[in-house]
Amino acid sequence: ARAATASAIRSSEAHSAHNYHPLPVVVASAEGAWMTDIEGRRYLDMLAGYSALNFGHGNPRLLEAARAQLERVTLTSRAFHHDRFAEFCTRLAALCGMEMVLPMNTGAEAVETAVKTARKWGYRVKGVPDGRAKIVVAGNNFHGRTTTIVSFSTDHEARADYGPYTPGFEIVPYGDLTAMEKAVTENTVAVLLEPIQGEAGVLVPPEGYLARVRELTRERNVLFIADEIQSGLGRTGKTFACEHEGVVPDMYLLGKALGGGVVPVSAVVSSSAVLGVFKPGEHGSTFGGNPLACAVGLEVIAMLNTGEYQARAAELGDHLHGELAKLAQGDAVRAVRGRGLWAGVDIDPSYGTGREISEKLMERRVLVKDTHGSTIRIAPPLVISEEDLDWGLDQLREVLS
Ligand code: PLP
Repeated sequence: ARAATASAIRSSEAHSAHNYHPLPVVVASAEGAWMTDIEGRRYLDMLAGYSALNFGHGNPRLLEAARAQLERVTLTSRAFHHDRFAEFCTRLAALCGMEMVLPMNTGAEAVETAVKTARKWGYRVKGVPDGRAKIVVAGNNFHGRTTTIVSFSTDHEARADYGPYTPGFEIVPYGDLTAMEKAVTENTVAVLLEPIQGEAGVLVPPEGYLARVRELTRERNVLFIADEIQSGLGRTGKTFACEHEGVVPDMYLLGKALGGGVVPVSAVVSSSAVLGVFKPGEHGSTFGGNPLACAVGLEVIAMLNTGEYQARAAELGDHLHGELAKLAQGDAVRAVRGRGLWAGVDIDPSYGTGREISEKLMERRVLVKDTHGSTIRIAPPLVISEEDLDWGLDQLREVLS
């Protein structure tokens, strides 16, 4: 039976670019927190598509919303209005406590849109001299893969060979307020941060950091852009990770879970003073805000409006972090970070690389993904049962014993 898996992997290696190194499992179907491979083996999904699958695989409400919309109209382009657009933008703005939405498709596009918005706002509203706008970002950030975004990455793999790089960014260490205060100057138009750095290993900034960045940006007339593409929409136990510090940014960037793991949906959400800088023809996307995306996004917003997913992430997250804290008392786990149903676990390298641990977990039918070095991240769908979560953690305990 293993031949089917090997053969599928061989063909994909022969005919696709090797820009990923997936675990050797070939998924054929999935439901809730479980995936089934082409040979009928079942695996517990403890990654949830990097948080795109917060509501689980094949969530019935999301599938129903998608199906109903498929039968009506799926794409108009923005050349015409369609009847789901206003409702989507209105409800998303309300969920965020903001006024305006600019819908795109992928996370990277939302980040690119934020960069363009901040620069245009800087020139038109703040009065920064043309071509001088600066955006301050954090070291070890992950905001996506476009040429401009990798220009301000500090990750060699993500960046090398893609120059010439886009200028206009300054990188400061994450969590370092003194460096941030120095970096923000009169031509700074925005500070762009992940409120918790996901790809860096689920790094939670020091307490008070986000709140002080909020004060600083307000004092100096600089936009605070929170990239909540991975941290937002329930994962940390609140709708936005910024809420844990009582912080409201000028702009939220959303993606991943906004499309429920069904369709790519991303958005920039902000005030009308900021997003009002755009005039017709100055930005756009053929698929951005399409009827199918809006229909699924609307269902996601309705689900988040009940608060039940956030509550579940908080409750299961307490349980997860309690169990991981016990594991961290042993030799195998060096550190655990995170919030809600989201954890970065640093494994002692003598127990294996993150990749090796992930492969061993796969053999025990649990799917996670390593980040850098010996860190694995745990981020199951928020709909996982406590029993399944415990079973997954049992497998981790076994692998590390
Ligand atoms: N921003 C953050 C914080 C992310 O975690 C990611 C993806 O992992 C992105 C942006 C990019 O999103 P996408 O892969 O949809 O372009």
